[in-house]
Amino acid sequence: MTPKELKEKYLSFFKKNGHAVIPGFSLIPEHDPTVLFTTAGMHPLVPFLLGEKHAQGKRLTDIQKCIRTNDIEEVGDSWHLTFFEMLGNWSLGDYWKKEAIEWSLEFLTSKKWLNIHLEKISVTVFAGDKDAPRDKESAEIWQKLGIPKKKIYFLPKEDNWWSPAGRTGPCGPCTEMFYDTGKKKCGAGCKPGCSCGKYSEIWNDVFMEYNKTSKGYLPLKQKNVDTGMGLERIIAVLNGFDNVFQTELFQPIIKKIKALSSEINEKALRIIADHIKAACFILSENIEPSNIEQGYVLRRLIRRSVRYGRQLGIKDIFCHKIAKAVISIYPELKENQEFIFEQLVREEEKFKKTLERGLKEFERLDKITGKDAFNLYQTYGFPLELTEELAKEKEIKIDEKEFEKALKNHQELSRKGAEQKFKGGLADHTEKTTRYHTATHLLLAALRKVLGEHVYQKGSNITAERLRFDFSHKEKLTEKEIKKIEDLVNEKIKQDLEVKCEEMSLEEAKKKGAMGVFGEKYGAKVKVYAIGDPSNSSGQAFSKEICGGPHVKRTSELGVFKITKEESSSAGVRRIRAVLE
Ligand code: ATP
Ligand code: MG
Repeated sequence: MTPKELKEKYLSFFKKNGHAVIPGFSLIPEHDPTVLFTTAGMHPLVPFLLGEKHAQGKRLTDIQKCIRTNDIEEVGDSWHLTFFEMLGNWSLGDYWKKEAIEWSLEFLTSKKWLNIHLEKISVTVFAGDKDAPRDKESAEIWQKLGIPKKKIYFLPKEDNWWSPAGRTGPCGPCTEMFYDTGKKKCGAGCKPGCSCGKYSEIWNDVFMEYNKTSKGYLPLKQKNVDTGMGLERIIAVLNGFDNVFQTELFQPIIKKIKALSSEINEKALRIIADHIKAACFILSENIEPSNIEQGYVLRRLIRRSVRYGRQLGIKDIFCHKIAKAVISIYPELKENQEFIFEQLVREEEKFKKTLERGLKEFERLDKITGKDAFNLYQTYGFPLELTEELAKEKEIKIDEKEFEKALKNHQELSRKGAEQKFKGGLADHTEKTTRYHTATHLLLAALRKVLGEHVYQKGSNITAERLRFDFSHKEKLTEKEIKKIEDLVNEKIKQDLEVKCEEMSLEEAKKKGAMGVFGEKYGAKVKVYAIGDPSNSSGQAFSKEICGGPHVKRTSELGVFKITKEESSSAGVRRIRAVLE
């Protein structure tokens, strides 16, 4: 089965069962600062899992591109990738365990759908602890459907509890489905969840009935189902492979790397294939290698590839050649291919200049202090994690404490880092980002009033501390203009306007003059948020935008709006940063 066929089957199966097919979200979360990348299909849906109404209803399904930076070190094994696609279906307070499990198993094993032999499947369920009871209900459902008792494993929270790691927010027990590759058990204790590769976790059904808060686990307003199935893993098992790299989603890339190599090293091959693919997708979001946030992850992926390329005996600049093979598999990347090639060449050349010298410098050390690690980073461009890895390989000791400190300074990078940055947790930050979200709508409306109707949204990014907004406009804003915009937004805040939400078809929304983001994919039905009374003197709402939400109820909740910076973003696009005080 091809990936295309699988995607079509998945969506049509859930459509048949009453789900609305929604478009996948961007790989870079716009309104959630706690992560740098979308890590799962549920992630952009958090507001709806918390109770916000979704315009497409209570049953949704989609295909989501994901990046998991915390799986980087696992890449090279049979099943883990940095970039992968997730097939997902959701119940927003609608169906529950029975339907979710039945549908999962039907899709996997029915002749009409994936036709996987039932004997190949085993499952895990939550064993229970002080926070939540043993999930007997799920186990019973599995058993009724023909999964024998001995293939149902009860596992603790580390394995069978899903939540955005360590944070507050929607969470709950999950039940995971594993495929047995038929390989030999690696030992007596080998069972689903074992990392030897015999079992592949193909699908996870999460039952989100709790909200993790600072006071512990409280019941959620609504019980949700959140499922995620790994595209690459399913394609591998359906085609009889025991790892993802043998699939058509990787073979052209692997072949290209092999053709350029003079040494054999399967792990290096896999890592490069994975990392360059992930790099291509990050680059396609217009992100450049840098020393912060997504750009740092991108840099780390490219530089790690370059180092592994050296292990394969590759002498010339090569990442862009691998990227060509990636683009041959994912035509959607074609649009940005020039940028992708150019950036890869530039980054690889930059790193190559210092790599050899850096490695020499490395060889001279018999212990690495935080200062050394920083020197390797600053002078030779070694991402800190790369130094850590090299040290492990060469069995050179690291001064852990100091090194950790150095690393911590740098960790706005992954989920882990972001958590420290936004201590408030999900529930708390949702409130703050919601205010910024509404402020962004007011800002766009004010910009159009003050500067003109040529102003459109070009990008938006919100954290719990500020908003950042890119818009079409050629000239630098004058101080007068900035003041006018600020004053207008603050006037609307003071007027305590109601924020109204209406659902309608996309066409109707456009007819009503609602602003949308050009190039954005919308579903058949959309939500339109209007701020301000349509019965005011101009007969128009102050702001009207197509948007998923959430937003505050009244503008007075926002506080005082202040523009902190105005600068150029790219040709013909200006960027504003603003805070609410
Ligand atoms: P694992 O235990 O194998 O790391 P997980 O429990 O972290 O998987 P989930 O967070 O439940 O996985 O994600 C849902 C599904 O997405 C998984 O069942 C799997 O099919 C797929 N998946 C998760 N992580 C990866 C990855 N790094 N590469 C490829 N597919 C993945
Ligand atoms: Mg995992």
